[in-house]
Amino acid sequence: RIRRGSIKCRYDIRRFSSVFLSIYNSLVPSEDEINKQKQLLMSLKKLVKKEWPDADLHLYGSCANSFGVSNSDIDICLAIDDSETTKADILLRLADILQLNGFQNVQALTRARVPIVKLMDPVFSISCDICVNNLLAVVNTKLLRDYAQIDERLRQLAFLVKHWAKSREVNEAYQGTLSSYAYVLMCIHFLQQCKPSILPCLQEMKATYAVTVEGKNCAFFDKVKELRNFGFSNKEDVSELLWGFFNYWAYQHDYTNNVISVRTGSIIRKHAKNWTKRIGNDRHLICIEDPFEISHDLGRVVDKYSIWILREEFERAASILQDYRDPCTELFKRY
Ligand code: ATP
Ligand code: MG
Repeated sequence: RIRRGSIKCRYDIRRFSSVFLSIYNSLVPSEDEINKQKQLLMSLKKLVKKEWPDADLHLYGSCANSFGVSNSDIDICLAIDDSETTKADILLRLADILQLNGFQNVQALTRARVPIVKLMDPVFSISCDICVNNLLAVVNTKLLRDYAQIDERLRQLAFLVKHWAKSREVNEAYQGTLSSYAYVLMCIHFLQQCKPSILPCLQEMKATYAVTVEGKNCAFFDKVKELRNFGFSNKEDVSELLWGFFNYWAYQHDYTNNVISVRTGSIIRKHAKNWTKRIGNDRHLICIEDPFEISHDLGRVVDKYSIWILREEFERAASILQDYRDPCTELFKRY
């Protein structure tokens, strides 16, 4: 069902750059919103420190990786060194404390894949999820944020891709499509492999930041201010990159054999990772390697039905950017 072979951009897609940029700008959270998030984090920290003086809270996910659109939920990780209490008991205790202090809709989801407490802040109406000791997510948040500082086109591209994915309902990992995290990795990979490349591969460079989390060595170059001119010789703008991104996923990616890898800044063969067949519930129909948990395929949630939904959406997007006179409206049309 998928047409093969790349196609050349027929219209001058740059004509739409200013519209795409204004959509991007409308999605960026305001200063005011960011301040409210910070205030909420401070008040939560106070409550946590009262109960567990040595514990701390870290923001992660889109409110901290710089890929958060306005009015997103915020993700917080409680870092606590307590081997005697189970995660579930810590979350239940946390839920009690939050409820006593006036937070709304407090719910402890202790049996979820990533156990969390959900809450709503009564002052700003911000929804928030708190997990326990998910420190790998804090580190991958930093990696994404560092990439975003190298070239602003990454943030522009990723915001538009996330906006497209939400509008087209292909941003739901529990329904067999991809998480926001996976889409951002796809954008980073795309900008690493384009020619000339717009992003370097931070994990292949000399490490200036290194931590060991859950036995995994996470190391990369993080002096990203030094890399501000990295993508200078590539003059493509956001509309051309968006066209290239969808064209890549619609027509160029080899779904049968290849894995995209931000860790190496290149493509890896499925064979090399032993991702050629289904094991348990892990299918490898679209392969996106996690930069730190390298045995982890972020595409494993995609099944034999949703892969076609995804690929048809990539094709639809590519053909809209190819042919339409008003691609900006059509691309983001609600499903
Ligand atoms: P959104 O704006 O849609 O909320 P998000 O970046 O916060 O985007 P989530 O799906 O809420 O995306 O995930 C929150 C964070 O959890 C991610 O930024 C990432 O750090 C981590 N994360 C999510 N899914 C995975 C995964 N499958 N493996 C490892 N880390 C993950
Ligand atoms: Mg989130």
